[in-house]
Amino acid sequence: MSTTPTSQFIRVALPVPMRRLFDYRLPEGADIAQWPVGSRIKVPFGKSTRIGILVEHSTESEWDANQVKTVIDKLDPEPLLSPEVWQLSKWSAGYYQHPVGDALFSTLPAKIRDGSPAAVPGQRFWKLTADGERITAEDLKRAKSQQQIFGLLKVSQPLTDEQLNDHEISRSALTAMVRKGLAVSFEQASGDKNWAKTLEISSDAPCLNAEQATAVAAIRQTSDQFQPFLLEGITGSGKTEVYLQAMAPILEAGKQVLVLVPEIGLTPQTLQRFSQRFNCPVAVMHSGLNDTERLDAWLQAKEGRAGIIIGTRSAIFCPCHNLGMIIVDEEHDLSLKQQEGYRYHARDLAVARAQREKLPLILGSATPALETLQNALSGRYHHLQLKVRAGGAETVKHQLIDIKGRPLDQGFSPELLGSIRQHLDADGQVLIFLNRRGYAAALICHECGHLEDCQRCDAYYTLHQKQGYLQCHHCGSQRPIPHQCSECGSTRLVGKGLGTEQLEQALQRHFPDHPCVRIDRDSTRRKGSLDNYLRQIRRGEAKLLLGTQMLAKGHHFPEVTLVVIMDVDGALFSADFRAPERLGQLITQVAGRAGRAGKPGTLVLQTHHPEHLLLQDLLNNGYGHFARTALSERKEALLPPFSHLALFRAEAHQSNEAEQLLATIVQALQQTIPAPATSSDMVNILGPMPAPMERKAGRYRWQLLLEASTRKQLHQWIYPLLSQIESWPQSRKVRWSLDIDPQDL
Ligand code: ADP
Ligand code: ZN
Ligand code: ZN
Repeated sequence: MSTTPTSQFIRVALPVPMRRLFDYRLPEGADIAQWPVGSRIKVPFGKSTRIGILVEHSTESEWDANQVKTVIDKLDPEPLLSPEVWQLSKWSAGYYQHPVGDALFSTLPAKIRDGSPAAVPGQRFWKLTADGERITAEDLKRAKSQQQIFGLLKVSQPLTDEQLNDHEISRSALTAMVRKGLAVSFEQASGDKNWAKTLEISSDAPCLNAEQATAVAAIRQTSDQFQPFLLEGITGSGKTEVYLQAMAPILEAGKQVLVLVPEIGLTPQTLQRFSQRFNCPVAVMHSGLNDTERLDAWLQAKEGRAGIIIGTRSAIFCPCHNLGMIIVDEEHDLSLKQQEGYRYHARDLAVARAQREKLPLILGSATPALETLQNALSGRYHHLQLKVRAGGAETVKHQLIDIKGRPLDQGFSPELLGSIRQHLDADGQVLIFLNRRGYAAALICHECGHLEDCQRCDAYYTLHQKQGYLQCHHCGSQRPIPHQCSECGSTRLVGKGLGTEQLEQALQRHFPDHPCVRIDRDSTRRKGSLDNYLRQIRRGEAKLLLGTQMLAKGHHFPEVTLVVIMDVDGALFSADFRAPERLGQLITQVAGRAGRAGKPGTLVLQTHHPEHLLLQDLLNNGYGHFARTALSERKEALLPPFSHLALFRAEAHQSNEAEQLLATIVQALQQTIPAPATSSDMVNILGPMPAPMERKAGRYRWQLLLEASTRKQLHQWIYPLLSQIESWPQSRKVRWSLDIDPQDL
């Protein structure tokens, strides 16, 4: 008789910031088949209990066996994640050198982290009864609240509890309608496992142009194998149409498609395009969901109750029942990189996931990241290009306005005001872009020149005139607008620099007959206000559109004939080697918001440096040329993607503590500098140096940059050090982190 070796111990990942697993003992006589790897369990931890994920079984523990505690309970009969996503999640935690428990947990829905069952009974829906269908709104004219609910259900039903709550309906009115037999509720799991059997593809797809057809054909040729595509297509060239037609056969084969979009790109119009083309359930994942909605979307994907999953960066970790393709729209977008805590790049993980799961992957952008472009130029990715605007819209003309020494009226040069007037007179819309919300950048004393600055950061306050306060955009602290200069006591305080609020004032003064909408984080704080503004723009009620980043992405405004970028100078002289790339992307993206057939667009930039080579290259030769020039400069300077970076950041209340921790790290790294494998290999340590903003929220910030010509060398060099650093006493006084492939320096 053979005895199978029974393991007594398990290693568990817990949501704590420690780079290790924790050992526990299984209950006496436990059947290990009932405790699968990847399932959630409850364990004692300190004086409390925690939910953890079982990572591996083991017959021994490196700890004193008597001290190892026994698990309390198991939560899942089977692994929580698909094997592919489980492997990807573990690999990613290792690659980004993030504590594994925190990495695994931070990408799960909150309800899963808290121990809710990984299956929901369903959502509550409301609909009208047959009696309810027979009446008219007129019949409810004496019960306004019921009339409102009736109106909502009449337009679209069933509606979930949450959807009804979004309209702030009265619950008692709803109960009254149920009592009268006009409405009923029922429970149902959202989505439909059998969507593939009833899949229909809408026939109103446009006829593809030649470039689109080539792209679709190339993508359709590759199923069931890893094949990345870069779809480089100018704004409006019909990339989305290529996605839609490329994914059709995948869905027809009953496989799911995962679509990643940037934070701001997930608009109702984007969703509509997918759901109008395909009748299958679409699961949506973004930061605006509440915990129940997020869990529901995650489960729809996991259980195959959705055919299409559209989400922002964390959706890359979403388990899918039967995934057939991944699409990353606006793959250059910085919001795909998580910038704090678990610093992963969703685009790069999409490549890793597609490779593991043998899937076609489409990376789409009008302004590809230089890393991606290099992969395409070197032949690693199949490069597909769309160079003409679909539907025949013309490309944008451009004009640089030199504002050196020119009189400016709240930021506007006379030439610019003239152009705006011309376009408004011709009944066009004008989009004005400024990368700064608030009224003015800073409050300056006209007598002594003192600028009101934040006590906790190396930054000036931003003036928010309307709300009546100064705010630091780095730590969020606020204070009332002072009446007197804190240096000399003068009362002559004026706003310096421009904010969206001030531009709005100026526009209203110059063009009082043309309504203006301002879109920034301040003006769109209320739920639904952004949609409301966008509707005003589409209906042509607003003629002047003024905004920040939020206006630069995802939306297309066909009636816009003039796009203005108020100030590009800041980015031309930044210390970050990626600043020119970002500026090129921004200008191209903003310009791409405008124009359509018969209404050509014009782009106007105000600058003190019209002769700047980067600007000239971008405007004269387009982003594609500009990016290739920038790539050859990066190659010359051995910067990414021709080398690989890792950045240590440290911050502490005492300036020298952060610096010293990094200095100690340097000492340790110097002892283990890898020997060059070839003569062209290089590794470099740059720093410690102060962070670009040395003080933020009362902490002193330092950083240390490591670069190497190969990724492998870099990682092998750093990894052994991390658990060491954790054990140093001084590392406890300092908040430190490691950013692999950092995107901002
Ligand atoms: P992108 O995603 O590249 O910005 P879209 O896919 O949004 O471009 O296409 C821009 C506009 O052109 C959309 O209104 C779309 O419906 C339309 N369009 C796309 N492809 C075609 C085509 N082949 N013929 C006509 N119109 C098209
Ligand atoms: Zn501050
Ligand atoms: Zn003063």
